[in-house]
Amino acid sequence: MVTQQLERRGIRDQRVLQVMATTPRELFVPGVPTSLAYDDRALPIDAGQTISQPYMVARMTELLQVEPGDRILEIGTGSGYQAAVLARLGAKVTSIERLPDLAEAARERLRELGIEGVDVRVGDGSTGEPEGAPWDGIVVTAGAPSIPDALREQLAVGARLVIPVGPRYQQDLVVVERHGPADWREWSDGAVIFVPLVGEGGWSEPDPREP
Ligand code: SAH
Repeated sequence: MVTQQLERRGIRDQRVLQVMATTPRELFVPGVPTSLAYDDRALPIDAGQTISQPYMVARMTELLQVEPGDRILEIGTGSGYQAAVLARLGAKVTSIERLPDLAEAARERLRELGIEGVDVRVGDGSTGEPEGAPWDGIVVTAGAPSIPDALREQLAVGARLVIPVGPRYQQDLVVVERHGPADWREWSDGAVIFVPLVGEGGWSEPDPREP
């Protein structure tokens, strides 16, 4: 997975490659045969949601430029895989999930794997987590119609927000970097497809395919 998919597609951060090589993705996709768990694609988890393809997790993590001890906010815990990768890079992760069953399963999985430093919370993360702000990085792993202002405001100066933005079934992976109290720069890292971010700062309706 690391050589064929991540390095070949341009992931250069050695720490990210190392952590992904040693985090067992198969344990985050119960019911999926081990032979498929490392394929270069998104896979279904419960409740109509998906775990992103390995390249996307690697790219989003690389773009966040995580340093040990950083406080990172993830929105969309899903399986807990992205959170696990961030925690294993030394980040202190707060991860918010809208669906309680997914949050509980992710918590349990992280506990079983002995991965510490992830606080999974249930709720609408589309407007961030103001109590914990400013964050050293914010990663949204669901697609938003636009960039919620609340998320920009909760970035520390020098920190980045990585968020898929655009219509429901096709987004741009947008990076927002805060340069000062009222100075943000943003650019797109390319086209992506994520399940919708549902909530106050996202879409008002879930994906019609969601059970
Ligand atoms: N990062 C995950 C993949 C996430 S899939 C992983 O590594 O497996 C996107 C997740 O975002 C879904 O679980 C969905 O329920 C959740 N989600 C959607 N809108 C949300 C919101 N407003 N707040 C928190 N979680 C949300």
